[in-house]
Amino acid sequence: MAIVNAMETVVTQLFEEFRKNYELKCVCLTCQQDILAIALNRLPPRYTSSEKGHLYVKGEFTDRQLQSDVMRELMEASTFVEHHLHHRE
Ligand SMILES: [Zn+2]
Repeated sequence: MAIVNAMETVVTQLFEEFRKNYELKCVCLTCQQDILAIALNRLPPRYTSSEKGHLYVKGEFTDRQLQSDVMRELMEASTFVEHHLHHRE
C-alpha cells in the first residue's frame, strides 16, 4: 500500500505561486529544495493513500487557512535559506 504525504503536493504547487510574488535570492535546485524541506518540516503532514491523494489535495486547495499557512512558512523558509543556508559557489 502506497502512502503519500499530500502536503508535499500542496507545498510544491503553492511554491510556484509563491515564486511569482517573491524573488528568490538564489534559484538553484539546492536552495529551492532547502526551502521546501524547511516548510514541510514545519507544516503538519497529511498522509493519505495515493488513490485518494488527488481528491484530498483538491480539497486542500480550497482551504484558505491552509493556503495562508503554507505561504507563511514558504516566506519564512526562504528568508532562512537566504540568511543561513545559502551555499557559496
Ligand atoms: Zn543556491
